[in-house]
Amino acid sequence: MIPIFDGHNDTLLKFHMGKREGESFFDRSEEGHIDFVRAQEGGFAGGFFALFSPTEGFDLKEHLVDVEGGYRVPLCPPRDQVSALKDILAMAANLFRIEHASEGKLKVVRTAQELRNCLDNDVMAAIFHIEGAEAIDIHFDTLDILYAAGLRSLGPVWSRQNAFATGVPFNFPSSPDTGDGLTHKGKELVRRCNELGIMIDLSHMNEKGFWEVAKLSNAPLVATHSNVHVLAASPRNLTDKQLGAIRDSDGMVGLNFAVSFLREDGANNADTPLETMIRHFDYLIDKLGEDRVGFGSDFDGATISNEVGDVAGLPKLVDAMREHGYDDALLAKLGTKNWLRVLEKTWL
Ligand code: ZN
Repeated sequence: MIPIFDGHNDTLLKFHMGKREGESFFDRSEEGHIDFVRAQEGGFAGGFFALFSPTEGFDLKEHLVDVEGGYRVPLCPPRDQVSALKDILAMAANLFRIEHASEGKLKVVRTAQELRNCLDNDVMAAIFHIEGAEAIDIHFDTLDILYAAGLRSLGPVWSRQNAFATGVPFNFPSSPDTGDGLTHKGKELVRRCNELGIMIDLSHMNEKGFWEVAKLSNAPLVATHSNVHVLAASPRNLTDKQLGAIRDSDGMVGLNFAVSFLREDGANNADTPLETMIRHFDYLIDKLGEDRVGFGSDFDGATISNEVGDVAGLPKLVDAMREHGYDDALLAKLGTKNWLRVLEKTWL
């Protein structure tokens, strides 16, 4: 089995929102995409565990308007810092409780060496990642404290506006060039993250923000869970020009399993073949090279192909990739080695 280290999951959010009420991360569940048992069955070696403060009471699906060839959705309303921080602390506490309860089977990793040790010893590795910096105050006190607690990866924005930048809406089809880039404080946040060695995730950022980070940051450019815009015209996906900049910075892209970012028609339809995912892998490998592509499933945060189903279905995808001609050396790079390489170059 090829171990997979994964660029994005929203499992902690599912627990936070009560969708796994009464369940333990360590019991096999029929709910959601990830628990410890299914993760082991699927060869899931760990990944970026996202902490995200949801916009409560705002259901994107209710605001979706069909237009010719696609749909339009507004940006989610913003969150205030204090209430967002409350969510982040609750999810971080849950992550550390899971680590404690695992008795050494899951570790929150803070250095590349710790990640390497986990991969070598079959310990599930979790990266403390924040998706959308709403919880970070503009004086960066919370950034320093969360870093000390273990924060090692941060997406300055989710698909809404905050004090630092503006994310892309989930319109389809659309260019990612949807609005203003980084604010003055957003530029400072990028510099602070560079100083601390916190990885900056570009996945929800609009194109203006992307190019500003590309200019400012001294770290490899990374989109943890995004796909190819030429193949699926979602603003969540990356244009050829953006892929070129990621390649030139020696960064990487994690393939997102969300069917609406994979399919040519942008439909949220789980009846999507594995070949649709492999087409994006092929394109990413062609543009970025074998060393700059990985997985970024979006498990527990998106509708994914029925053929994968959940984390236990990862080997089905890997088998299809092998049949398509990917050899074990390439699968090992996509599975774990490339994430390790980029984090070695990014973390202090
Ligand atoms: Zn996301």
